[in-house]
Amino acid sequence: MKVFSDYTRSEIENLLADYPKFRAKQVFDAVLQGKDYEQTTLPKAMIESLREKFVLKPLTIYQTLKGLDGTKKYLLKLCDDNIVECVFLHQDYGNTICMSTQVGCRMGCKFCASTTNGRVRDLTAGEMLSTIAVVNADNGKCTDRNFTNIVLMGSGEPFDNYDNVVKWLDLITDKSGFHLSERNISISTCGLVDRIYEFSKLNYNITLCVSLHATEDRVRKTIMPIANRYTIKEIIDALKSYVNENGRRVVFEYCLIKGVNDRDIDISNLKNLTHGLLCHVNVICLNPNGGSLKATTRQEAREFVKKLVDAGVSTTLRRSQGSDIEGACGMLRAKTLKNK
Ligand code: SAH
Repeated sequence: MKVFSDYTRSEIENLLADYPKFRAKQVFDAVLQGKDYEQTTLPKAMIESLREKFVLKPLTIYQTLKGLDGTKKYLLKLCDDNIVECVFLHQDYGNTICMSTQVGCRMGCKFCASTTNGRVRDLTAGEMLSTIAVVNADNGKCTDRNFTNIVLMGSGEPFDNYDNVVKWLDLITDKSGFHLSERNISISTCGLVDRIYEFSKLNYNITLCVSLHATEDRVRKTIMPIANRYTIKEIIDALKSYVNENGRRVVFEYCLIKGVNDRDIDISNLKNLTHGLLCHVNVICLNPNGGSLKATTRQEAREFVKKLVDAGVSTTLRRSQGSDIEGACGMLRAKTLKNK
């Protein structure tokens, strides 16, 4: 079965060439507004015949949780009953949608709940576009764009679903669609070096984020299995090449884990690693997910960040939004699967 959200407006016009052109626009508008057939004004007969070939709305809201800080967490149900998460965050500068790129994840990071049961499947580009459409419609008028930024920091490894993510980038930035500026999109990867090189060549103006989380390969290997495939030096070299090609500052995510990556040596290592690279470090405290890893305290994190800033490293300590509603990557889905 084909899914309309996999296609651009002109592609839908081609698919519906047998109908008057304005019908294609109606279908395309319904995709962007997160509507299903019965919410459109398409003629009944047309709906009946389209239903046989095309899905209009490939996911629905299964559960919504609202955090004290206004953060909203969604569980979305896909056509095959799989569930993915999405988070809507209110911020001073606009609203950000944090979305998933895969059902589960196979990267195996020790601190991350998304990967507990491995990867079930990739999301298609259309499912990712519809995620945005459905969540957008739930946060204001469905005919408006109610968000300013999108971050691919939900469940899944975007560069492990490379083709769909790149196709989604074209859909979300499409002039006749949401028309989101590339500059307002961040993609976070655990550091798939080959893909970083490949992606550099496409010259998208997005912000590339890398989950670093350790300053030595030996330590990184204990929390992130991907470190067995690529060294930190290989990641830094790939990012240097990315900055050279795109001129865009890259971002490191650094999640503080007590006694693992919050030592003084990590500060000097971070200084050396980031030297000469146009980059910023986002430090967050671990959101413990029941494993053996413990979070660095907020106070210790503030001191860690201050030392980094004093060492000349561009760094900020991020607040963790939505922690009262299982805000971290994959936590709510993991809990829901456990209770099923
Ligand atoms: N696979 C991609 C994107 C998804 S994770 C990546 O690795 O970058 C988005 C961010 O949340 C990553 O930096 C990830 O390491 C972090 N994260 C995952 N679980 C976390 C937790 N329990 N506490 C704090 N940050 C977490």
